[in-house]
Amino acid sequence: MIETLRSFVDAAGLLTGPDIGERYLNTRGHSQAGAPLCVVRPTSTAQVSAILKACHAAGQTVVAQGGMTGLVGGGAPRGGEVVLSLERMNQIEEFDPEGRTLTAQAGVILQTAHEYCEERGFMLPLDLGARGSATIGGVISTNAGGVRVIRYGMMRESVLGLEVVMADGTVISALNKMLKNNAGYDLKHMFIGSEGTLGIVTRAVCRLRANPKSVNTAFASLPTFEDTVAFLGYLESELGGALGSFEVMWGAYDAFVRATCPSLRPPLPAGQAFYVLLETLGTDPEADPERLQEILAAAMEKGLITDAAVAQSEQQRAAFWAVRENAGEGFRKLGPMFSYDVSMPIRAMGDFATRVKSGVDAAYSNATTLVLGHMGDGNLHVVAAVGIGGAEAHSKVNDIVYGVIRDLGGSISAEHGIGVEKKNYLAWSRTPEEIALMRTLKSTLDPKGILNPGKVL
Ligand code: ZN
Repeated sequence: MIETLRSFVDAAGLLTGPDIGERYLNTRGHSQAGAPLCVVRPTSTAQVSAILKACHAAGQTVVAQGGMTGLVGGGAPRGGEVVLSLERMNQIEEFDPEGRTLTAQAGVILQTAHEYCEERGFMLPLDLGARGSATIGGVISTNAGGVRVIRYGMMRESVLGLEVVMADGTVISALNKMLKNNAGYDLKHMFIGSEGTLGIVTRAVCRLRANPKSVNTAFASLPTFEDTVAFLGYLESELGGALGSFEVMWGAYDAFVRATCPSLRPPLPAGQAFYVLLETLGTDPEADPERLQEILAAAMEKGLITDAAVAQSEQQRAAFWAVRENAGEGFRKLGPMFSYDVSMPIRAMGDFATRVKSGVDAAYSNATTLVLGHMGDGNLHVVAAVGIGGAEAHSKVNDIVYGVIRDLGGSISAEHGIGVEKKNYLAWSRTPEEIALMRTLKSTLDPKGILNPGKVL
């Protein structure tokens, strides 16, 4: 098998044994049955096709890898597979300013695509903390979300066309560039978010938007969860579609950041029940900052918020976002921790946070439970540290968090996917009929089960 694959690629295209670096082995703490057979790093769709055709004929399992920033082990090898890394398919192939599209290979780094578009007055809206490593193919395969979903949707909404290599090596070239195309089933959606289990994304046509001419960022504090819901509704009606982000942090998270991250500077006084980081994307650099100030002043008069601060410079804006995105220093001090990505109706979020915290506290003394997230998208992240790590504690905390989600009719995965991490809980968010249809799709598209086995289903 290795010699066959070697014949398809150049000398740098195949790694075995000790040459397989840590990058390809990242299991995110999940157990691994053994080392991968090899790592193959193609540079073209034709090579990917040849590799899959050979693997399919031999019944050889394959794990596709992008930037390896996923959080549920979707790209982690479990032993014996061919790791197919798309990292060398990193060319931006075409930019169309009239059609507002970018055609890129799967291995293009998200930040590279951002910078390329921005220099030309456009934006690829999908943005997330891992932008410096995550790849176009990876964010498509996982249907990633991030911090601008409230305005532009998840990655799915920014994909117009896809090229996918099927399990048997067949290339499905559906590099559609049109906003409208109802000629039969829209096949790309079958692969977006399928985590490498139905086909391997090699190229994509991404939908671009005009770059916002003004970005304004503010922090607000609020006394109750109901006020954050009302504040979101108020902003949406006052801003006429300009709201780009609405990130909520429970007071415990703010206190945690102050206690453990000396480099972070929360802009508002401590001790409030809720904090919101919001950002507007507008068209008028002169009037937009003033308009936001007025809206926030009015919200304060109405008693929706207790305090607000608007970033006055790009440096302040970065400092505001750092409070939300860069608490890693504090998380490391927590010791072993379990993190969650869940979604639910917005009105249920207050109840969710209260029930998860009391559930964890009842099971473990001295536990820390922190809640924050993309509230406008119905998506929360939870960090729970209970003093110990290991599979037993992990599954006990999983049962608490996902149990509340099941009761509330939410989803066990909002934007991170299922991978191996959440596989055992899929039935807590999907009906038996839904899972049966997923299995039908899987067995139809990948009858030998060679694509990313053991993931998702
Ligand atoms: Zn997130």
